[in-house]
Amino acid sequence: MIQKNKIFGGKNGGVLIYNSGEGLLVENDIYCNALAGVWIKTESNPILRRNKIYNGKEGGVCIFNSGRGLLEENDIFNNAFTGVLISSGSRPVLRKNRIFGGKAAGIEVTNGGGGAIEDNEVYDNDFDGISLATGVTTTVKGEPVVATGNMRWSPCIQNFKPSPDNKEYGNKITLNVAERLGKCLFTISKENTYPMADFYRCLTCDVTASGAICENCIRNCHKDHVVRFHRRDR
Ligand SMILES: [Zn+2]
Ligand SMILES: [Zn+2]
Repeated sequence: MIQKNKIFGGKNGGVLIYNSGEGLLVENDIYCNALAGVWIKTESNPILRRNKIYNGKEGGVCIFNSGRGLLEENDIFNNAFTGVLISSGSRPVLRKNRIFGGKAAGIEVTNGGGGAIEDNEVYDNDFDGISLATGVTTTVKGEPVVATGNMRWSPCIQNFKPSPDNKEYGNKITLNVAERLGKCLFTISKENTYPMADFYRCLTCDVTASGAICENCIRNCHKDHVVRFHRRDR
């Protein structure tokens, strides 16, 4: 049990839980660390409750390599990357957290991640609130939601309902701004992070289909070319 500590100014992550690690982190202040505030990796399954994880130079909580864990009632804010990143087969439970003021998305699920995302408040982040990559599965009160991509900026937009039990508001969705301006989304990418978006392939330009292009480039550089939706991801 790690309780009521201040963990700050580290040159790596604040707390690293790995190799089936467990434990209980309660009411800690974890801030100004060089990498993620909390790493949960390699089948670890900790409980994080009522911590404040903020002002990190990377993400707030990064859950990789089949990580699990229960994150409940934490405040995760003002981090330089994504508030909570769920990747590579991880299946955590996120419940009643407040995730706000981040420089990227609030919650991102990518690369075969999933889990349950319930009753969180996700607001005032620079990118999207909750972003799901193509193919990830999360559950919302037990109902599986499979993300297929092509949801927000296409005619399918009406079919995408953000999970009703999470509150998402005030997220800047920089992508929408860029799209209105017609700029390539690369122009709003940052040094090490890139917003989750729908990517396409241009069959006219690239016979090997190895590259991916954004929606704005379809309308400009690849106007009237043959393009195909590839996937929504980072
Ligand atoms: Zn582009
Ligand atoms: Zn082209």
